[in-house]
Amino acid sequence: MAYKTIIGLEIHTELMTKTKMFCSCTNAFGGEANTHCCPVCLGLPGALPVINKVAIEYAIKSGIAFNCKINTHTRMDRKNYFYSDLVKGYQISQDDLPLCEGGYIEIESEEGTKKVHLERIHIEEDTGKQTHTTEGDTLIDYNRAGVPLIEIVTKPEMNTPEEARLFLENLRATLKYIEVSDCKMEEGSLRCDVNINIVDTETGNKTNITEIKNLNSFRGAVRAMEYEEKRHIELLQKGENTIKETRRWDEVKGETITMRTKGDVADYRYAADGDLAEIVIEDSRIEEIKNNLPELPHHKKERFISDYDLSEYDAGVLTASKELALFFEETIKYIDDSKLVSNWIMGDVLRRLKDEEIEIQDTKLTPKALGELINIVKDGKINNNTGKKVLKEIFDTGKEPETIIKEQGLVQISDEGALKEIVSKVLDENEQSIIDYKNGKDRAIGFLVGQIMKASKGKANPQMVNKMLIEMINER
Ligand SMILES: [Zn+2]
Repeated sequence: MAYKTIIGLEIHTELMTKTKMFCSCTNAFGGEANTHCCPVCLGLPGALPVINKVAIEYAIKSGIAFNCKINTHTRMDRKNYFYSDLVKGYQISQDDLPLCEGGYIEIESEEGTKKVHLERIHIEEDTGKQTHTTEGDTLIDYNRAGVPLIEIVTKPEMNTPEEARLFLENLRATLKYIEVSDCKMEEGSLRCDVNINIVDTETGNKTNITEIKNLNSFRGAVRAMEYEEKRHIELLQKGENTIKETRRWDEVKGETITMRTKGDVADYRYAADGDLAEIVIEDSRIEEIKNNLPELPHHKKERFISDYDLSEYDAGVLTASKELALFFEETIKYIDDSKLVSNWIMGDVLRRLKDEEIEIQDTKLTPKALGELINIVKDGKINNNTGKKVLKEIFDTGKEPETIIKEQGLVQISDEGALKEIVSKVLDENEQSIIDYKNGKDRAIGFLVGQIMKASKGKANPQMVNKMLIEMINER
């Protein structure tokens, strides 16, 4: 039997404006509970919301970056429902007149480039944050209430959890490139809901759509989708179906859990927010924002391939984050060898970032230091392995490469006389290896080189050692 997975996503992204969507309270994350709020945030009687222009501009920017149509006449609506994190009893959102419609994001899936289309991007305000204590109390912090959000809704066009992951990564990279959101999932600035079901491609039988709410890591989202895929298929195979319901992902148990079953679509009784006037956007303003949009990830990737002669893979990795791309381009100002810089970044630098789970901008390594280090290695002043050691030291201390090399006496030994002495001593101590080599065991050379590097504390010039070693063995 063959099954096809159908995935649609709804992504909530907090916009990094200075102030909230409808008042002048700070949009800063954290702070003592309930200190970043005012009568507007809390919807107290008589409080009047005022639209944050910057939030609208950020939403337009996002719409343009994702190829949407921007509606020049749009409106805020009240979405009525009662929940304790929503003190007003309604959320200000958009219903039938969203700011952006249509659009798409391209992903590189296994079958090649695929366009995942968007339904819409609309603006809304965030709600408060609830914390459930072990004693059974619920604590509510309204600092987050009224923070501007955009909700990005896709068409159900992704067919594997991997495609959904690629989509989310592309979306996050773009939002960060255009500087509308920091996309910090651990701080809740990017959260996603997944809609998923399965079709039996032979019989056409479908499972009901399950919604998985509030996934706050890409890894969790992928695992939740994989779990649901399996659950839906198992039910179909038994001739059963899933119930139309909302579930949540339990990271510890590694499974999804029922939150609530869906009856009919909830009736939010949407109505235009009478306190807020219709939003009219001039075409010229949209054009201006479009013209000032920075280079987007896929454009940058294309440029890296053509300008720096990098492989598609390398260009993809280097442009996956704006900061890494900037770091690369800054480094080649100090050493005019893009391939070499790419190799260093793709190798030791990225490995270090991954091990420490940090981003390039949070390290002590600067483009200048990396550029100088690569130059020093290229000139043969230190060898490649020592270069790696120096890089590690820069990461730890932020010192200049020259300083580290001087302090630790790492300058490569390229003096023929000095090298000869070391090689000669190692050969004297390892006569068996010489016999082995002469009997055709080439591996013996590797061992001897290792001994020489050890004797020179890693400072011997490897090219010279290799050449000298063969010559000196043959002389014996
Ligand atoms: Zn406020």
